[in-house]
Amino acid sequence: MLLGEPGRTDFDLHFRCCGIPVRVHPGFWAIAALISMPAGREPLPVLGFALAVFLSILIHELGHALAFRQCGIQSHIVLYHFGGLAIPDSISSYVGSSSNYSSRSKIFVTAMGPGIQMLSAILLVLVLRGFGKTDGFLTRAVGIPASWTADPIGTLTDIKSIDGAILPYYPISAFPEEHHQVLKLADSNADQLITPAELVNYEAELEAPGQFAMPLWETVERSPAGLYVDRDILERLTDNRRDVLLVADRGEDQLILWSDVEDSLRQEVTVQNEFLRTFSFGFIQVGLFWALLNLIPVYPLDGGQIMRELFVLSGTRGAVEKSLKLSVACGVITGLIGMRFEMTFLGIMFFLLAYSSYQTLQRMQGRYF
Ligand SMILES: [Zn+2]
Repeated sequence: MLLGEPGRTDFDLHFRCCGIPVRVHPGFWAIAALISMPAGREPLPVLGFALAVFLSILIHELGHALAFRQCGIQSHIVLYHFGGLAIPDSISSYVGSSSNYSSRSKIFVTAMGPGIQMLSAILLVLVLRGFGKTDGFLTRAVGIPASWTADPIGTLTDIKSIDGAILPYYPISAFPEEHHQVLKLADSNADQLITPAELVNYEAELEAPGQFAMPLWETVERSPAGLYVDRDILERLTDNRRDVLLVADRGEDQLILWSDVEDSLRQEVTVQNEFLRTFSFGFIQVGLFWALLNLIPVYPLDGGQIMRELFVLSGTRGAVEKSLKLSVACGVITGLIGMRFEMTFLGIMFFLLAYSSYQTLQRMQGRYF
């Protein structure tokens, strides 16, 4: 983005990264703190999230700056209240080399920011997976199955696919009242839950095959039931599927509830350290979700810049104007989608960006037509 660089302050933080000067304006910490607030009430998770925002945005700008350097342009990085900027050191070197600094180079420089940022997030997903952990963002927030990112055992679906492993149970209260008496006798572990096995066993005890087990079962079959794991399959399993089931097992005569199996596995694949957990969540959320948003072809986001250069490269007339029109359209559509999914802040931001593209378009048309 070629927005104005914020003025220097006494509270600026200066350092170099990969030989590139970095300046952190105090406004950056304010916005990082604001974004990190929802991470929790304790300072540790908030700090973890803020560190993730800082690192991810720094990596993004480093991507731009290193690509600039590749094109022979020195630049520096500024992090401030609107995120980050990679700014060419002197306009003359930027403009002077503009003949060499082609549309292709511009696309390269622009794409390297979100590109490296996304790569770093994917790398963290893989590292976590290496430790058998899930990131929490892709699995919980986006809803990608844990087995795709970090379910170390591949388990839940594996167990579920074993024939007859998962069975329904019903609370006694789900059956018609006149049968409650019999059901209490059949409820061998007195947990007020009836399983098919209990009914059949009770029937066998009374030597009354076909008397009531099936008909009784049919009275509840359509109503919602919980699921439990048939203990018999434990003997057939030797791998870590067995361990997962044993962890969820409440012991003597209690059912291994399927919900407990899911909970214990979720526990196992979650990063236990609170700081690391919010850091990973934040780093992957910012590195994937924000980086993707940044690629939407809306000015002055990276996606808008790339789209403009693509129009220029394609050689169509009025390339800049066309990219601005696309920017207005995509800004409005993304704004509406944001509102639809109750991401109000995001929605408003894209409406404002669309409006600013519209204003630029008006100014251009006023000047040229
Ligand atoms: Zn960028």
